[in-house]
Amino acid sequence: MLIKSEQDEIQSFLGDASNTAGGRAERVLFPESAGEVARALAEAAGAGTPVTVAGAGTGIVGGRVPYGGAVLSTARLNRVGEFVRETWGGGRAAAGAGVVLSDFQREAKARGLLYPPDPTEGSCYLGGTVATNASGARTFKYGPTRAYVRALQVALTTGDLLEIRRGELFAGADGSVRLPLGGGRSIEARLPTYTMPATRKHAAGYFTRPGMDLIDLFIGSEGTLGVVTEVELSLLAQPEGVLAGVVFFGDEEPLLAFVREARERSLQTRAESGDGIDARALEYFDGEALNFLRERYPLVPLGAAGAVFFEQETDARTEEALMGAWLGLVEKHDALADESWFGTNEHDRAEMRAFRHALPVMVNEWLARRGQRKVSTDMAVPDAAFPEMLRFYKETLRAGRLAYVIFGHIGDNHVHVNILPRDDAEQAAARATYGRFVERAVSLGGTISAEHGVGKIKREYLRALYGDAALREMAGLKRAFDPACVLGRGNVFPEEFLPAPGGN
Ligand SMILES: Cc1cc2nc3c(=O)[nH]c(=O)nc-3n(C[C@H](O)[C@H](O)[C@H](O)COP(=O)(O)OP(=O)(O)OC[C@H]3O[C@@H](n4cnc5c(N)ncnc54)[C@H](O)[C@@H]3O)c2cc1C
Repeated sequence: MLIKSEQDEIQSFLGDASNTAGGRAERVLFPESAGEVARALAEAAGAGTPVTVAGAGTGIVGGRVPYGGAVLSTARLNRVGEFVRETWGGGRAAAGAGVVLSDFQREAKARGLLYPPDPTEGSCYLGGTVATNASGARTFKYGPTRAYVRALQVALTTGDLLEIRRGELFAGADGSVRLPLGGGRSIEARLPTYTMPATRKHAAGYFTRPGMDLIDLFIGSEGTLGVVTEVELSLLAQPEGVLAGVVFFGDEEPLLAFVREARERSLQTRAESGDGIDARALEYFDGEALNFLRERYPLVPLGAAGAVFFEQETDARTEEALMGAWLGLVEKHDALADESWFGTNEHDRAEMRAFRHALPVMVNEWLARRGQRKVSTDMAVPDAAFPEMLRFYKETLRAGRLAYVIFGHIGDNHVHVNILPRDDAEQAAARATYGRFVERAVSLGGTISAEHGVGKIKREYLRALYGDAALREMAGLKRAFDPACVLGRGNVFPEEFLPAPGGN
């Protein structure tokens, strides 16, 4: 196994896309097989050496940032297995944790298959997406990564290799957990007793539900329970065509009504397996975001107070009727129909995708000119609470005279508020404002993280969501899987809930 310990060689493993400072490690391990991972973990546990699991480092909550000990990179676990087509049209494939998501999606597409999870940053590894239960714009139709995980191979710090397949091992109705390890041994634990928020997306803390499938414990556990070494994923059939549009609105109220109806009709179409409106993405841009974009896209109408980007899959039989149905919805809700954009060919869709992706780039350029970092939210709330949450975001930001843009997954009531500080005083004000947003989201039954996870930088917000007793329960569950408490330290819950590494 390759091991690097020269500091200049391991620099890129001391951080992630959150730019969280202070990462340090003695060495980086590059195992090439699950067996090597298990042996390295057992050795680290025996020596009381903390281990931080590293995927591609695109995470934005500091989960991959090590504070001492070793980093275990999954980069060399990058074998892609056979793609198997199943009789229902979709398929499955197994792959190592270090396979790059966009490579896997490309391989699937070449075989007429679709792997739907689409966190915007395609350079992440499959193992990282499982560890964070990643999701994206298409999650509105297809759900998060969790929905596609059929089986996992997980290496534990006890040196065991767990093979766990969906549908085979369940928690008891009383929350008891028993996972056989072989040789008559097993992991015995209890599920945390908190109830997860009833939001469409949620990626904060361990998944817990009496009677749950135990594979779900590992999905979204952010490198704290075990190292995912291999995944088996479900694939869907590639759609024949996709209809896309960017619909501009002069006012916010009709925009919200448009989204509400598009969502309701999509859910109904799915429930009935019908041919009607069924968006796979419903994405929001507020007026401030459009002001940014207008600099590069002069066709953004001057009077627009907001926009919705939508996508719907089509085939030759449904395309025309669906275009008519969407145009009807646009007109019904007083959109700026003549100035909105629609497209069915790959060129138009690529332009709309570029439009959507231009915003974060432009925001980052704006911040770089001022030497500041954005403060970006990841909360989601239940359907009925969204208009109130959006109003609260805007009123608070305007009252505080803070610059901002709001965009994201409005179909799932999950928009990213990007607060844009112009100087250090505003940076401090932005952070205080973030705290107020968390409080309001929690009071409305929302989650503090719908897709990015908790990592090291959102632990206090997880405490605000669930309270100390729940964090203790999570720590108890972790100790059942990682008795020496060496794995992913500092992720999800504060260090104070764990004994010193190896101190068991
Ligand atoms: C520009 C940009 C846009 C993004 N957009 C989205 C988005 O729309 N939706 C979204 O969900 N995310 C988004 N992200 C975040 C990020 O891409 C995802 O969290 C991704 O899933 C992380 O994968 P990674 O391989 O980079 O993991 P890393 O950053 O390396 O690690 C993330 C966490 O998972 C753990 N981990 C990694 N691999 C394993 C493993 N094999 N076993 C156990 N634990 C492991 C790490 O210890 C860490 O805690 C975005 C990031 C960027 C930079």
